[in-house]
Amino acid sequence: MRVLLVEDDRRIARDIAAALAEAGYVVDSATDGEDAWFKGDTEDYAAIVLDLGLPTMDGLSVLKRWRAAGRRTPVLVLTARGTWTERVEGIDAGADDYLPKPFAMEELLARLRALLRRSGGHAAPVIAIGDVILDPRQMRVSRAGRAIALTPQEYRLVSYLMHHSGRVVPQQELAEHLQAEHYERESNAVEVLVGRTRRKLGDGLIETRRGFGYLVPAPDAPT
Ligand code: CA
Repeated sequence: MRVLLVEDDRRIARDIAAALAEAGYVVDSATDGEDAWFKGDTEDYAAIVLDLGLPTMDGLSVLKRWRAAGRRTPVLVLTARGTWTERVEGIDAGADDYLPKPFAMEELLARLRALLRRSGGHAAPVIAIGDVILDPRQMRVSRAGRAIALTPQEYRLVSYLMHHSGRVVPQQELAEHLQAEHYERESNAVEVLVGRTRRKLGDGLIETRRGFGYLVPAPDAPT
């Protein structure tokens, strides 16, 4: 899952980025409003963490511009403590959730997980497809009760596909969510990764649609 972090306070940004990376997300960062707006408008993110007080363009304006342009990426807004007007304005501008500063990193991660689940149409904290279970809190995947040892990259792949089950995910989209910006995108990197992950997981979860992408069937789809 690729997440955009928009925060101009270097120390807070560094702490959040570290926590997100440790939780298995690929993190892109922006430290001013113009850059945030551009990235959110041109790149494809699973979610965005957005501070409101930013140089060059404030967070609320950034959010309004994304929404006006039809960008529906889930956005978690960071607000200053006690400023309920900011929260109201944030929600009116199209924020999906907000978190007042200062906050516990665990709460930020929990809210982000909930946001991603809702945007993927999954209400439960774990996602089950057939006998495969994904637990985003523990970053674990198991099949038929047996834990599967995955590398962070393999976990991100399974997590992304399971969050978007029932939809064919193009190879390019996967590549964007698996790798941080500036990472050299080798043409067959995704194929190799899928092959390796499939060998660990066993057959029947990740399907290949030649020329289109990869698909994890929806939980209630007849198999
Ligand atoms: Ca700020």
